[in-house]
Amino acid sequence: MTKMNNAKFATKAVWAGEKDYLVHGATQVPVIPSVAFGYDDMDEWYEVAVGRKKGHIYGRNTNPTVQAFEDKVKVLERANAATSFSTGMAAISNTLYTFLRPGDRVVTIKDTYGGTNKIFTEFLPKLNIDVVFCETGDVEQIKKETAKGCTIVYLETPTNPTVKITDIRACAEAGKQVGALVVVDNTFATPVNQNPLTLGADLVLHSATKFLGGHADALGGVVVGLDESLIEAIYHYREINGATMDPWAAYLILRGMKTLELRVKRQAENAEKLATYLQTVEEVETVFYPGLIDHPNHEIAKAQMSGFGGMLSFAVAGGVDTVRHLLPKLAFANRAANLGAVETTVGPARTTSHVECTPQERAAMGIPEGLIRVSCGIEDGEDIIADFKQAFEAAQIEA
Ligand SMILES: *Cc1c(COP(=O)(O)O)cnc(C)c1O
Repeated sequence: MTKMNNAKFATKAVWAGEKDYLVHGATQVPVIPSVAFGYDDMDEWYEVAVGRKKGHIYGRNTNPTVQAFEDKVKVLERANAATSFSTGMAAISNTLYTFLRPGDRVVTIKDTYGGTNKIFTEFLPKLNIDVVFCETGDVEQIKKETAKGCTIVYLETPTNPTVKITDIRACAEAGKQVGALVVVDNTFATPVNQNPLTLGADLVLHSATKFLGGHADALGGVVVGLDESLIEAIYHYREINGATMDPWAAYLILRGMKTLELRVKRQAENAEKLATYLQTVEEVETVFYPGLIDHPNHEIAKAQMSGFGGMLSFAVAGGVDTVRHLLPKLAFANRAANLGAVETTVGPARTTSHVECTPQERAAMGIPEGLIRVSCGIEDGEDIIADFKQAFEAAQIEA
C-alpha cells in the first residue's frame, strides 16, 4: 500500500485498485456480470448481508468489477472512499438528493453542466430547495452567498463551454465556515490536472463517460471523498434508488483509465496548440482556453491546476451560418455531443451543452451563437491544426 501511495500518477493509473480483483492468475480485472453472489454457508451469507464481512450479495449493491473501478478512481483522486453510478448525471443527482432537504439552500455558479443546471432550475425548486446562481468565477459573490448559510456549495471548474475557472480553495473555506458540503464536478480537469479534495472540497464527482473512460464507449459516474461516512450515505441512496454502474461499463472505463495521463497530457498539448492557432484566424472572434495568458482566470487556473486540459471553445464571425459551413469540413473530428474521447470532438454550444436555452439566455451567459466547443483528441497536433486550416479555407470558398 505504501508502495502504491508513493508511486506517481501514471503508475497508479496503471496499477491501482486491481490486485484484489484478479482471479485464476489473470493479469486483468475480469468482467463479472453475475447479478447475484451465492453462499453455501448460511452464517457467512448473513455476515456479508449485514455488512460485517466483505463480499457481494446483489449487483445493484456491489460488484467486483465495479469496485475495482471505484478503487482506482479513489487512488487517483487521493480520496478515502468512492462510489460509482450508471452515468455522471446519476452521480450528481444522487449526491444532491442524499444531502438536501426541503427548506435547504444551495450556492452554485451559472455555468454548470446543462443537466446539472436542469436539476437546479427544474427539480430542486419542486422540493422547496432554494438555489442561488453566482457569476461563474466570482469568488466574492460565492463567499457572500455562502456566508448567508447553505447546505451545499456546488462548483464545476473548468466549465462548459467557455472554460471558466473558479477558485476551489477559497470557496471551500467559505463553505467550511457555515458547515456546508463543498462539491466539485472535476470532469473537465480530470485527476491528472486537479485534485479538489486537496484544495478543501468534501466531495468530487466525475462523468466517467468523458475523460476517465476516454473512448466514448461506456457511460458512468463516480463520487469520491475523504470522509467515508459521506460516501457511505451516497452509496446507500444509490443502492436503494438503483442508478448502479454496469460491470461491462466498469471494465471498459477501468481499461481506459490506465492511459488517462498519457491521453490527457496529449489532449492538453493539442488544445494549447489549437488555441494558439485559432487566435491567428481572421474568422475567429474569441478563443476560450485557460492556458492562454489573456484568459480572465488564467492565474487561478495556473495555481490550482497542473495542466489546462483538452477543452477549449471559440466563437466565429458570422455565427450559426459560419458554423454550418465550417464543421462539416473537418476530416479528423466527430461532430457530436460528447467530450473527453481520443478523437477530437466538436459541436456548437447551441446544439450540445446549451441546447435547452433560448438564444437570449445563451447571450446572457456569454455564449455567442457561433460558439464551437472543441474537445481535443490524441491525434497529432499538427494534423489537427492543418485540418482546421483547410476547413476554414473550404468554408470560406463555399460561403
Ligand atoms: C457529461 C457531463 C456530465 C454528465 O455526465 P453523463 O455521464 O453524461 O451523465 C456532468 N458534468 C460534466 C462536466 C459533463 O461534461
